Parts: sequence; structure tokens; C-alpha cells
Amino acid sequence: MLKPILNDQEKSVLRHLVDGAKHVVVICHQNPDGDAVGSSAAMKLMLQRMGKEVTAIAPNPFPDFLRKIPTAADMLLGDRHHQKIDRALAKADLVMILDFNMIGRMGEPLATKVAATKAKRVMLDHHLDPDTSCEVTISHPEMCSTCEVLLRVMMDMGWADGMTLEEATALYVGFMTDTGNFTYASNRPEIFEAVSFLLTKGIDKDRIYRTVFFSHTEGRFRLMGYLLYEKMEVMEELHTTLMTMTNEERMRFKTKNGATEGFVNMPLEIEGMKLSIFLREDTEKKGLIRVSTRSVDDFPCNELCAEFFNGGGHKNAAGGSLRMTMEEAVEVVHQAVGKYENLLK
Ligand code: 5GP
Ligand code: MN
Repeated sequence: MLKPILNDQEKSVLRHLVDGAKHVVVICHQNPDGDAVGSSAAMKLMLQRMGKEVTAIAPNPFPDFLRKIPTAADMLLGDRHHQKIDRALAKADLVMILDFNMIGRMGEPLATKVAATKAKRVMLDHHLDPDTSCEVTISHPEMCSTCEVLLRVMMDMGWADGMTLEEATALYVGFMTDTGNFTYASNRPEIFEAVSFLLTKGIDKDRIYRTVFFSHTEGRFRLMGYLLYEKMEVMEELHTTLMTMTNEERMRFKTKNGATEGFVNMPLEIEGMKLSIFLREDTEKKGLIRVSTRSVDDFPCNELCAEFFNGGGHKNAAGGSLRMTMEEAVEVVHQAVGKYENLLK
């Protein structure tokens, strides 16, 4: 049996908030990933099972393969469905905030709208340093995913007993995607106990893997080949790679925003590499460069991103952004890895 993560006080506050709520709004972070959508979907399905009216919102669109997660295709989009979202927030008693640690990461106009409601707020997350503006903050940075946090909360609250196959499937997606199918951030034995529990609910983990990972377009594949062949700079001494992508290049391969998900991980498959950096032009905001970084072992991507890229994140996966041209951003990357050369050489 997994150890409880909630104390009696937390359980009683959470039970009080959920029991008292009729309408619940569930919100994940911008540019939602498998954990964000998986935890939102599982939360929605569970609350519906408990008789609540639930609206799940993603701040902006997410890739098609995540729409196959049960109920995910029904999520409202913060940058499109303004009226439906306003109606849902107007009657919400409770807002569930999933997979992010600062209210601002839901982006505008959503953040302002949520702040203006009278609804109580519960945050479930696994990122470092959560802000403490919610009535309940359940933050577990040691956990692999928000789906793991949610599953453990469900177990502690007695809500996991009636878990459906759909809920278990949605939860598994977060475990699988936030650990790269259990290749990083996944050495805690509790993770596999939790997955074992999901298997008892009937999930077909092999099929979920194919649904999520074998779902790419031809354009994404050719773009990947192009970036790896033409655009990857290998800094051998620093065991670091840098890839860049402009919007023109992305569109040449007819790929949408989100189609480059996972590209940043690939150069780490080159033997000996410690750090991979991926720069891409923002698809909407001109003059904004999005930064993604990934590392192995102890290299602190979060510190690098906080110091040089106006961002943060986890030790082995972090990101940020730069307001400048691609050429200037490449310069910043060279400065940044120069400063960290002692850790990289
Ligand atoms: P990705 O490279 O997949 O966009 O982001 C990886 C991780 O970095 C995210 O899970 C998140 O924790 C963090 N991250 C990405 N962008 C930002 C940012 O702009 N600010 C902060 N604080 N963290 C970010
Ligand atoms: Mn996550």
C-alpha cells in the first residue's frame, strides 16, 4: 500500500471544498502536455462521477494526439471559447489548478478572469516553489507527474475506489509522458506501485503508448530530420547541442504549433551529451524566442533557464523565453553554456 500524502487537516479541507461544490472548473497550464491534459481529464471524469458539473479548460490548443485522452477533446480553449468560459467561471464554486505552480502560467485572459471569481482554488502540482495564493496547495516536486499527485490524492480521499478505466487511462498518460516512458524522473518505487494500481483498473499501457507516441504526421518526421541534419550544432567540448527553428522552417513542413514536442530530447541520445537546447520562434508573438532545455544527471536546466532565459522548471527539463532575434538568442545560448562550462566539460 502506498503511504498517505495528505494529513487529516488537508483531507478535511479538501473534502469540505469538494463536497460543497456544484460547479467545478479544471484548468491546466499553457501549451498543455500529456501530464497537464491527462490530469485535467482524470480530474474532470472523477468529479463528474461524484455528481459535479465540471468544465475543463486548456489555456490554448494542444496537439491532436492528446485529444485522444478520454474527454480531452471537450476541453474549452482559453484563447477561443471566451463566452463558454465566462459562463463556467461565473457559476464555479471551485477551481482546480493542475500541473503548474504559478497562477500566471495559465496566461491571459484566463488568469485575470479566474482571479475575479469567488471560487475557492485548489492547486495540485509537482513543480518547485508553488505560489501560495490558493486555498489548498498540494505540491509534490519529488513526484514524477501531476497525475501521480492526483492519483495519490484520490487514494487518500477514498476517491480512487470507483476509478473508471477512462480515469486510469488519462492518469497513465501523465506518468508516461512526464517520465519519457519511464526513462527519467522515474526511479521511485512508488511510481511503479501507482502504475500497478492503474493496471488493475484495466488500462492497456502498450496501446496508450502507441496512441500517444506513434501518432505523428509525415511533416513532423521530415522537420525532425531536417533539424537534426541541418540545424543541430554540437559543442563537443561542452557536451551540449543547440537546435534552432524559425516559423518559416516550421511552416515549410506544414506542421502546427506543438508538432516539435519532444525534439529537444533527441540530441541527448548522442553518446556523452549532457545538455540539449532548442530555440524556436513563438508561433504568435513576433520577436519572441521560446527556449527548451533538457539535461541528464545533475546538470541544472532550471538554474540555467532562470539565469539566462527568463524561465525555470525542473532540473532535467526547463524552459523560458527571450525577446530578441534568433541570432541574438543563439549568442545568449553561447554565453550561457560558457558560464556553465565547468559543469558541462
Ligand atoms: P518545455 O521545454 O517542454 O516547454 O518545458 C519544460 C519545463 O520547463 C516545463 O514543464 C516547465 O516546468 C518549465 N518551463 C517552460 N517554460 C517556462 C517558463 O517560461 N517559465 C518557467 N518558470 N518555467 C518554464
Ligand atoms: Mn507535469
